[in-house]
Amino acid sequence: MQKIRVRAHAKINLYLDVVGKREDGYHNLETIFHSIGLHDDVIIRKRDTKEITVRCEHPAVPSDASNLAYRAAQRLSDAVGGIAGVSIEIQKRIPVAAGLAGGSANAAAVLHGVNELFGLGFSQETLMRFGAQLGADVPFCLHGGAALGTGIGDELTRLPALSDLPLLLLNPGIEISTAAVFKMLNFSLTKPENAGIIIRTLMEKVDVLSISEGLYNLLEVPVFAEYPEIATLKTELSTQAGCFGALMSGSGATLFAVMQDSESARRSESYFKNRVSFCTTTVTSPVGVYIKD
Ligand code: ATP
Repeated sequence: MQKIRVRAHAKINLYLDVVGKREDGYHNLETIFHSIGLHDDVIIRKRDTKEITVRCEHPAVPSDASNLAYRAAQRLSDAVGGIAGVSIEIQKRIPVAAGLAGGSANAAAVLHGVNELFGLGFSQETLMRFGAQLGADVPFCLHGGAALGTGIGDELTRLPALSDLPLLLLNPGIEISTAAVFKMLNFSLTKPENAGIIIRTLMEKVDVLSISEGLYNLLEVPVFAEYPEIATLKTELSTQAGCFGALMSGSGATLFAVMQDSESARRSESYFKNRVSFCTTTVTSPVGVYIKD
């Protein structure tokens, strides 16, 4: 086998609470991740030389060693004392710096794909440990489906995945740095009374209406304070016909809505399409990375 094509799925957070600040500067979270159908394609080819190269046409994605996909290939190469080089081509569809873990998904796809392409034989657990060294969301992107994330989001407990739940995603075109959002956090914030309900609901039964009512993301507070136009967009999204609930994903700025059915998702997509920089319908996905051929 000379090349492998891996689908790298984006994630949303159905619930995100920050439960404390750690001495190393990171924050401890309680979050529920879910993979979604929206994905990048990552094509990995063996090279004759030992070099790792990355190519992506998106202008905001680096092609050097700072690309998370490059770092993932380097991590595996280091673990086995050097492998033959690889060229990595990223066909980007996931908006960048948008709270959808695009970079982390690419890194997960490279860990999974290079492991298969070279028959390295690392277990999923070991790949997830390597992933955690690259970024807090990488282990979930390898895990896929639905999971409760604790620690910095890298300690995962599997939850039942929601099958083909219709979603609408909107991004107003504001790139937000995750680090900047955490800096703006104010720990005296009080939580709404239903905070935590979604975790219990998902653990006990898969009830879409209760899940939609329990959608919660503490990071909306600092992000909406800085960018009130995102809050306005969320209100408009929430009042669309067939919208069960809406939330900002991760540190934003992407908003998602859980929709009653694919027809109402498509109707709202046409409503927003010409007004935001990115708008698409998708569904929840049971997988995070997937080998296509
Ligand atoms: P998270 O929710 O994990 O913080 P995000 O979806 O908000 O992620 P990314 O799309 O992963 O953000 O991009 C964050 C930054 O990482 C970008 O500004 C980009 O310069 C850099 N980056 C490095 N590698 C990649 C990659 N493979 N794809 C996208 N961005 C990358």
